Parts: sequence; structure tokens; C-alpha cells
Amino acid sequence: MTKQGNFIVFEGIDGSGKSTQIQLLADRLRQKNISYYMTMEPTYSPIGSVVHQILAGRVKTDNRVLAALCAADRLDHLLNEIDGIAGKVSDGYTVLSDRYYFSSYAYQGVDMSMDWIIHTNEQSSAILKPTVNIFIDIDADTAMERIMKNRFHQELFEKKSRLQKVRENYLEAFEKLKNSENVLIVDGTKSMEEISEQIWTGVEKYFV
Ligand code: ADP
Repeated sequence: MTKQGNFIVFEGIDGSGKSTQIQLLADRLRQKNISYYMTMEPTYSPIGSVVHQILAGRVKTDNRVLAALCAADRLDHLLNEIDGIAGKVSDGYTVLSDRYYFSSYAYQGVDMSMDWIIHTNEQSSAILKPTVNIFIDIDADTAMERIMKNRFHQELFEKKSRLQKVRENYLEAFEKLKNSENVLIVDGTKSMEEISEQIWTGVEKYFV
């Protein structure tokens, strides 16, 4: 029987360095001959594509509809037969996911209670809990600087006040989840290499 893989989730506001660190962790896993699979939320499934449209401001809706769509996208992301996370993990892949529980709520979740968001995720968490949730924490000023420097155009939701609120939401959620989930909080203002080392130190025990 194949050994189960791990499920490593990266969370953080835009510009915090998630995709950079996923790439660096993937490089490390490749050198160690550990098979991995990279994915993200919202997905680009039919449901996830609608979520992307809403987040970009091209489709108007309210938070309840968005929350329901996100929950549906997450369930598909977990369980679909082609590239569902649960199947990949049971096939022995280490799945590296750019966001999971908080994905889309991160931006629209400004007006939602984190208790409620955690509650809506209990179903997914009962099916497959992340091995570790890595929260790359940076302040909204640094995030905005990086976004302004590196993007041709800003998304509608990338505003400093929102990023700040979202960061607070993340911290509140992780404080509440810390007894039921493995949460690793890393300082995202350090150098890419330092963060990558800290992440590896935090996750390598799961790879032995
Ligand atoms: P995210 O996926 O969280 O939005 P990215 O990994 O795309 O973040 O990083 C956003 C930008 O910031 C990129 O241009 C990246 O090169 C840069 N960046 C990422 N990590 C760091 C870091 N530790 N220090 C300085 N710049 C960084």
C-alpha cells in the first residue's frame, strides 16, 4: 500500500510570499525525491471560476452566496476524481496548496465572523485536515509595496485597509484553531531563504 502523502497549506495576504515559498518547498522536495502536487484555492473548476469572477469584481453577489460557492469549490477540490486533494494525498503525493480554509473569504470575509467561517469549514476539515497550515505573516504596508512593484494592475480587493483587516482575520482564526490544527506562523518580512529554512524546519518532521 502506498504511504499517505502530506497536505501542506500556505495562507497569507496577497504579496506575503505564498507562491514563492511553495516553489522553494517544491524544489526541496524534488531534491529529496518526494513526489508533490501543487494546487490553489479558489480552483479553476467551473465553480471556482465563478468565485474568481466575483473576487475580481466582475460578478456582483453577496457574502452568503460567495460563502456557499467557496464551500462547494472546496468540496470539489478535496474530492473530485481527477485531481482532488484527498486522492492525491492517498496516492502518496505531498500536496502544496496556496490557501485552503480561508482562501476566498480572506478578501470578502471582512464582514463575516471568523467563528462562522471556521464552522463552514468543519465539513472539509473532517474529510482531510492539513498536516500543517503555514501562515506567512506580513504587514499590509509591505504587502502593498510588493503588489505595487510587481503587478501591472491591481485587483479590486487589493487595498491596504482590506489587507490589514484580512491579516487580523487570519490571526484571529489561527488563535481559535491552534488546539485543533497545526499552525506554523512565519515572519514574511525576512529574506526568502530565511523563511524557506524556517518552513522546512517546521515541516520536515512530517517527512520522516
Ligand atoms: P503571494 O503568492 O502570497 O501573493 P508572491 O510569492 O507572489 O506572494 O510574492 C509577491 C512578490 O513579493 C513577488 O514579486 C516576490 O518576488 C516578492 N517576495 C516574495 N517573498 C519575498 C521576501 N521574503 N522578500 C522580498 N520580496 C519577496
